[in-house]
Amino acid sequence: MDFAPSARTEELRGQLADFVRDRVDPAEAVYAEQVAASGDPHFHPPVMEDLKAEARARGLWNLFLPESEYGPGLTNLEYAPLCELMGRSPLSQEATNCSAPDTGNMEALVKFATPLQVEQFLRPLLDGETRSCFAMTEPWVASSDATNITSRITRDGDHYVVNAHKWWTSGAASSRCSFAILMGVSDPDADRHRRHSMVIVPFDTPGVSVVRSLPVFGHDAGGGHCETLFEDVRIPREYLLGEEGGGFAIAQARLGPGRIHHCMRAIGMAEKALRLTCERTQQRVAFGKPIADQGTIQAHIAESRIEIEQARLLTMKAAWLMDTVGAKGARFEIAAIKVVAARLATTVIDRAIQAFGAAGVSDDWPLASMYTHARTLHLVDGPDEVHLQQIARRELRGYESFRTT
Ligand SMILES: Cc1cc2nc3c(=O)[nH]c(=O)nc-3n(C[C@H](O)[C@H](O)[C@H](O)COP(=O)(O)OP(=O)(O)OC[C@H]3O[C@@H](n4cnc5c(N)ncnc54)[C@H](O)[C@@H]3O)c2cc1C
Repeated sequence: MDFAPSARTEELRGQLADFVRDRVDPAEAVYAEQVAASGDPHFHPPVMEDLKAEARARGLWNLFLPESEYGPGLTNLEYAPLCELMGRSPLSQEATNCSAPDTGNMEALVKFATPLQVEQFLRPLLDGETRSCFAMTEPWVASSDATNITSRITRDGDHYVVNAHKWWTSGAASSRCSFAILMGVSDPDADRHRRHSMVIVPFDTPGVSVVRSLPVFGHDAGGGHCETLFEDVRIPREYLLGEEGGGFAIAQARLGPGRIHHCMRAIGMAEKALRLTCERTQQRVAFGKPIADQGTIQAHIAESRIEIEQARLLTMKAAWLMDTVGAKGARFEIAAIKVVAARLATTVIDRAIQAFGAAGVSDDWPLASMYTHARTLHLVDGPDEVHLQQIARRELRGYESFRTT
């Protein structure tokens, strides 16, 4: 394994760092002011369109897609350091058209869309003209087990009729959200892994409604995380994604690269928290010396550095495996980093909050917001326990003969 950055990665990382420093960081306050002035937490501020135009002009666009017809065509290993950088600067993700849930949807469309679906749904997303959402999770069933999903997708002549009650549909509150990729049961009698299909549901179809946006730790922003209803929604059969019964397989395929991206961004957040800790503890003096000179603080700083390096190496290995043997061959490493990166981010940010004192839990610094985001990473794209179970099952394989009952 060779994790040394390629010349192309080095060049793009330099360009991305310049863009973040010169354009994105100064735009953060403008973004907040424009959203506040609109009175709508889901408002799409004009400054974001300026940033997108600038990113595209600099060639910093669709960096996440390995297919070279859509962007620079980076491998997962090449994209890793760029994605990490974006983890330190949330606005840079949308500015470069590399933000979830669109990234996962674009990947699924690149893999499974028909030419009509490419023109109608993928192209506008690739061009940053629209946004989208992914509607799988449901309020009434344990959705960490995707085979539990109960929404119905029923064939009716040349149409499907969709009836679904979803929640945590991220991005659905945005006025720019133009469609959902939705998972539901199309054949209740089939094997549990062949029961579901995925369909594309344009948001302007009669019967689609956003019930509410669910605040996360009391905060509601961006495209929101919404409860959504799909009542007798009729869509043409051409909006089936992949094949009937292929919903579970698409869900798995969609989550592979997405999980890696979440982990890279989590490492970026942890790096930012550690940098802020070092700056702050050098500046502030308590009991006659800089806080950075206290042994416990130094131990925390060292632990954070060690854990970041460990998590990064494992993430690079998962990315390298994705590139060399594919998502299936990398599934245990992907499961492992999903757990490791969420833990890393919450632990390092928590230490940073402590080192900041009360300022750490205020909104004057980004730590509180970063912490709440990091905490959700233990749940999104499957809770930690499901990944641990997957790893344990592999580890236990071959030891069945030791059982006494
Ligand atoms: C901020 C945020 C954004 C999200 N965005 C989206 C989105 O865009 N689209 C979407 O469809 N969903 C989205 N989700 C939903 C997310 O994917 C689900 O919450 C997650 O898959 C878990 O499903 P659940 O909430 O139904 O928990 P449940 O399935 O009810 O599980 C509850 C708990 O049970 C335990 N558990 C479950 N399985 C096991 C096991 N095998 N072993 C041991 N313990 C277990 C775990 O502790 C788990 O947290 C989002 C969630 C959040 C918080």
